[in-house]
Amino acid sequence: MKYLQGYAPALVAQAQQLLDAGELGPLLARKYPEPHEVRSDKALFDYTQDLKQRFMRNAGPLALVAYDAKLKVIQHALGTHTRQAVVHGNRLKTRREIRVATLFREAPAEFLKMIVVHELAHLKALEHDKAFYALCHHMASDYSQLEFDVRLWLSVRDREEKLAKAGKAGAVEQADKAEE
Ligand SMILES: [Zn+2]
Repeated sequence: MKYLQGYAPALVAQAQQLLDAGELGPLLARKYPEPHEVRSDKALFDYTQDLKQRFMRNAGPLALVAYDAKLKVIQHALGTHTRQAVVHGNRLKTRREIRVATLFREAPAEFLKMIVVHELAHLKALEHDKAFYALCHHMASDYSQLEFDVRLWLSVRDREEKLAKAGKAGAVEQADKAEE
């Protein structure tokens, strides 16, 4: 359970059990039935800007918000945020960018919200510390549950990919046998 590192062992064991039984995917689909319409980078920018206006109005402006297909979803980077100091005339400006892994385009609405909230909070708090999570909860009161469920969802996707690969390999093996 690479996405669940740092969570209580009993919780991880329970998740693993549901995952192995094939019950975790359907369970999440029932809990989060709503898809979202944020399909394009433009829509993602507007969506993020809207949240920022509501909750983090005084954080600096966003230069770019985009889906990124190259983004590898790893434990501490569900999305990325960068602050680049750029020289603008004779002044130093900060260029803030948020990139969201493309797989969140297909995610339930609440999961996209979680990832955008996470990256927005990083505009003000760089580390995953108390101040950071306070900001997250300010924007999404159920943030902790959402982040946990996103991690479960990623685990389900990984398992499905593995099963699909194994299924293909199995089918090829059977076809080889039939030819013999
Ligand atoms: Zn982070």
